[in-house]
Amino acid sequence: MAAPMGKNEITLGFVEKAENWRLSRRFFPSKVGGKPAWLSMKDIPNSDNLKCRNCGIVCIFLMQVYCPISELDTCFHRTVFIFCCRDPACHTHASNSAFLVFRSQLPRANEFYDYEPPDEDSSPGSSLGAADEGLLCEVCGCFGGKKCAKCHVKSYCCREHQLVDWKAGHNKECGSLATGLAATGKEKILFPEFELVTESEDYSHEDKDDTGTEECHVAEDRQGLGVEELEKMALTESKEDRQFAKFKNRTDYEPDQVIRYQRGGQPLLISTENQPQQKDIPPCTSCGSVRQFEFQVMPQLLLHLDVDSLGQSIDWGTLLIYTCAKSCKGVSAYLPEFLWKQDVAVSDE
Ligand SMILES: [Zn+2]
Ligand SMILES: [Zn+2]
Ligand SMILES: [Zn+2]
Ligand SMILES: [Zn+2]
Repeated sequence: MAAPMGKNEITLGFVEKAENWRLSRRFFPSKVGGKPAWLSMKDIPNSDNLKCRNCGIVCIFLMQVYCPISELDTCFHRTVFIFCCRDPACHTHASNSAFLVFRSQLPRANEFYDYEPPDEDSSPGSSLGAADEGLLCEVCGCFGGKKCAKCHVKSYCCREHQLVDWKAGHNKECGSLATGLAATGKEKILFPEFELVTESEDYSHEDKDDTGTEECHVAEDRQGLGVEELEKMALTESKEDRQFAKFKNRTDYEPDQVIRYQRGGQPLLISTENQPQQKDIPPCTSCGSVRQFEFQVMPQLLLHLDVDSLGQSIDWGTLLIYTCAKSCKGVSAYLPEFLWKQDVAVSDE
């Protein structure tokens, strides 16, 4: 990421259209949509690892955040990946079963990347792409363990994606030398692709305060009111409205933010309902350490994903990502982490 991930600062992420080559894995991108730009090329998640816990279909890449930890040699490179089910029906209220999160990290000296950072001015055409193809699913970019039985060239993660590609044009090019024919159709399964660019949150409002924001706003907005009137207002105003107002107040300064990053910090909750308690966050499945908050995905991202359809669509209030506090090495190059989905409260009372 461009901006340093400060410890006590909140870093915001925004989507931006980018040249394709900039999003290739050699540049350690943070990105939304398209195919994942894997960090480690070992243990790449396959269709079993990526099964939606609701319907069993392979989840599709949503976004990745490049977020090294400078104090840890093992985390010189570090990326957190989020996948989600494409079926809106799986995105039920306050359930995280349609999401999957993986963390991958590498020391500076590793078998996949140069010790020195890549030269951004070097020919954009030269990418690591060729080596990756054949290994990855033609359609979704996850591990492609199955080859087309006829041509033995194209790889797929599962039968469903082989069918998608077949209908999208591989039926015409299979076995011939023609490649890159009409690829429409299979792109539809992926989310639109963007680069994620970052900057520090400049919340230089006079009432800047992480813990007391809400109280400050209340006090400020109601100057001139008597104590009794204030108390009356506090009673009639629902807690829910205030939590949502706090969320809105804080994000209105940068209304386009799609992520808020603060490893070890506090998430900005959108609702008083379904707030995660420490007991709700399972410890790291590799080392048993507690997981801590690392970043959250904002509802604004939905506007860029073309997920609106008639009736149901993929939806969330905010997605909170929790990762191993030790960012342990683990036994696999892709370690599962935890996501908590908070929705806007269903308005009842
Ligand atoms: Zn599903
Ligand atoms: Zn696939
Ligand atoms: Zn084929
Ligand atoms: Zn761990």
